[in-house]
Amino acid sequence: MYDIIIIGAGPAGLTAAIYAGRQGSKTLILEKGIAGGKGLEVPLMENYPGYEKIEGQKLIQKMKKQATKHAKLKELEEVTKIEKNSKNFKIETKKDTYTTKTIILATGTRHRRLKIPGEKEFLGKGVSYCATCDGPLYKNKKVLVIGGGNSALQEAIFLYKIGSKPTIIHRRDQLRAQKYLQDQIKKYKIPIIWDTTLKEIKGKEKVQEAIIENRKTGKTSTIKTDGIFIAIGEEPINKLAKNLGIKLDKAGYIITDKQQRTNIERVYAAGDITGGLNQWITACAEGAIAATTAYKDTQK
Ligand code: NAP
Repeated sequence: MYDIIIIGAGPAGLTAAIYAGRQGSKTLILEKGIAGGKGLEVPLMENYPGYEKIEGQKLIQKMKKQATKHAKLKELEEVTKIEKNSKNFKIETKKDTYTTKTIILATGTRHRRLKIPGEKEFLGKGVSYCATCDGPLYKNKKVLVIGGGNSALQEAIFLYKIGSKPTIIHRRDQLRAQKYLQDQIKKYKIPIIWDTTLKEIKGKEKVQEAIIENRKTGKTSTIKTDGIFIAIGEEPINKLAKNLGIKLDKAGYIITDKQQRTNIERVYAAGDITGGLNQWITACAEGAIAATTAYKDTQK
């Protein structure tokens, strides 16, 4: 019997584990992949207090080391079912079954898909959602980065710095990303194709061409490219929450109170799955609050 089971080992889940273990709660983290979640994909962070610059992977390594001093972590163990009994929860994974008094959902988000022809077919063959993971394959090669938010610009800057030749394609004539990223795009003279959407991805074994359309003129054209990095936002991973009957907002993010409580007693949520700012620092803060509230609620 665990006091707290945390589902998801990204920044929110790992911080929840640090707080949970230190307050004396018997804690387990279940992670379907490798600890870090989307944190592993952050090329460089310049807004996490205490570090002027740090790569996502480095910070995850530090957080994982710290979290596993205080809690047990099981990676590659996907939760398939959660059942609420009168007092506790039964959690099933593909490998085992666990019981716990409380649950913290830190399941995060997944990359939004464009849903255009060629996107699925060329995944891993030129189409990617993660420049940190796949970028090094595109040194000295031409790539397109789709999107105008923080992720797209961050990816384009990372790709530029590792020696590939990115061009950003954005559907509007204004970027959504923060100014400090926009300034870097200007500084590195990374080209932007404005008011344009990607319609189709073509190639033989690998991506070779992108068909794009100017939204103002309706004109389509073809660009030769070696790779396409899609960074058009996120979608919540909310299947477990939905099955438990947890209240979600219109976009599918978990609704919590300020103490990270959901509408289901002794189930809490933290990190990107709650929507909002989607920052590393806010994920950590929510993880800390969720663990503290879970402890308080079980002391009543
Ligand atoms: P985002 O902020 O939602 O931006 C998505 C971008 O993709 C927007 O520019 C949007 O265009 C475009 N887009 C959406 N759907 C599209 C479609 N179907 N076709 C073409 N373009 C499409 O997502 P994000 O950049 O992935 O960031 C997600 C969250 O993580 C945000 O909260 C962000 O602030 C945070 N984040 C922060 C940092 C940082 O602090 N440095 C870094 C990365 C991510 P429109 O602008 O026209 O809507």
